[in-house]
Amino acid sequence: MNRKSETITLIGAGLVGSLLAVLLAKRGFKVEIFERRADMREENISAGRSINLALANRGIYPLEQAGLMDQVRPILTTMKGRMIHELDGSQNFQSYGQKPEEVIYSVSRGELNKICMNAAEETGLVTIHFNQKCDSVDFDEHTIQLINQQTNEITRQSFARIIGTDGSASAVRTAIHNVESEEHNVIPLGHSYKELRIPSGPEETFKIDANSLHIWPRGGYMLIALPNEDGSFTVTLFMPTDGETSFEKIDTEDRVEQFFTQHFKDTLSLLPDLKKDYFDNPTGRLATVKCSPWNYQDKAFIIGDAAHAIVPFHGQGMNCAFEDALELVEVIDHQEASKDLNWEKVFSTVHVNRKNNSDAIADMAIENYVIMRDSVRDEKFILRNALAFELEKRFPKYFCPRYSMVMFHRLPYSKAKQRGEIQEEILHQLILNATSVEDVDFNLANKLIQEKLIQIELNPSRKCQL
Ligand SMILES: Cc1cc2nc3c(=O)[nH]c(=O)nc-3n(C[C@H](O)[C@H](O)[C@H](O)COP(=O)(O)OP(=O)(O)OC[C@H]3O[C@@H](n4cnc5c(N)ncnc54)[C@H](O)[C@@H]3O)c2cc1C
Repeated sequence: MNRKSETITLIGAGLVGSLLAVLLAKRGFKVEIFERRADMREENISAGRSINLALANRGIYPLEQAGLMDQVRPILTTMKGRMIHELDGSQNFQSYGQKPEEVIYSVSRGELNKICMNAAEETGLVTIHFNQKCDSVDFDEHTIQLINQQTNEITRQSFARIIGTDGSASAVRTAIHNVESEEHNVIPLGHSYKELRIPSGPEETFKIDANSLHIWPRGGYMLIALPNEDGSFTVTLFMPTDGETSFEKIDTEDRVEQFFTQHFKDTLSLLPDLKKDYFDNPTGRLATVKCSPWNYQDKAFIIGDAAHAIVPFHGQGMNCAFEDALELVEVIDHQEASKDLNWEKVFSTVHVNRKNNSDAIADMAIENYVIMRDSVRDEKFILRNALAFELEKRFPKYFCPRYSMVMFHRLPYSKAKQRGEIQEEILHQLILNATSVEDVDFNLANKLIQEKLIQIELNPSRKCQL
């Protein structure tokens, strides 16, 4: 097949759409992207909510494969662990890993998106049409209906093959599931989020530790902060949407002040625009999307949040979506190598390979909300983590903490989840009567590990030198 004759239409030039465009163009495909928003490189528009994101190894690897890490590396800020802020203002640091390269990175969503869009256009094979919202898809006619967001003009555009990279409220997903649907669940978390900002200190200095993901865990709700390159922090308040302590109830300036004074007192001096940010910034709802199928015949496919939006508490939505994009082009490469590029087979193979994994990270992300807002303060949790590190040191071929499997390795999420459950049982049994790692019976640990775990096949953990 002459790839130059094949044009692929993408809906959405967000993180996944623009990275996928680079990966497809590098393989010779022409790509047309229709994006609802204006061009963020020309107009000062927000790249959407969640101004910065945690980037981990799973997301770095596809960026490397697309040849983009040299441009991305300079805009990363290292986060080595969680800084827990207690009610009394004291702070304690919990390391994410125990090797120097076991860190994650904070990255600006907008800057990362711009790098991917520029790289896509520089291939000469990608055209991005801005202000074009896909309204509906007609699979029989092979056309999409677009609404120009500036003029309201409605046009039709024909396509050969369409991929929905249009995020959690995907129009392409709706179109696919209007004709064929086995599973289509949008599961609200019942909690929402609001972004606030800690500005930088003089000369772009950081007012709190620069290399941590900060958490103020308060049980039913929490505040987190991720560093930005310019010394500021993007702060996110996660809280129930309604109920006793909720966004619905905290609805006046006095209530905001009272709430923060009572629960996050040490942030008051850090958040000079608290009330303004609280009332100016939107309240975002959180939900998990689980659906099947991800394709309609050989005509349409969805990846990223369009196929499996997850709650943000493992910092993996984008990382998982980047893995999808790489998986898609690798399946194309594989089929082409056997001279049998059948698009329906490509789409269904990617769906089969990724569905278990996206379901697994969706579940682990929900579990991690409870860990972040509550368990991180719990002595048993801290002991379990310390023991997990010790077991990793003593039994490196068998034991790897679940957080590390998810964040520092590329082991499939479903395997990380499965092993994590077995490891959790082992940890639970070993600390039943222990108050410190020294109390643990390591002969029993050895026996349990040999009985319950097979050797782990981790992709080598990689280093990202800043
Ligand atoms: C508060 C919060 C924090 C997060 N933190 C992290 C994190 O730390 N780490 C991480 O890995 N992930 C994180 N995520 C998840 C991450 O944001 C998503 O997984 C990621 O953005 C998915 O990329 P995407 O390209 O699939 O979708 P999106 O980034 O949503 O992009 C979709 C694009 O499609 C466009 N579009 C939508 N509809 C249409 C249409 N009908 N027609 C044309 N264009 C359309 C949009 O304008 C947008 O440009 C977080 C999410 C939230 C909400």
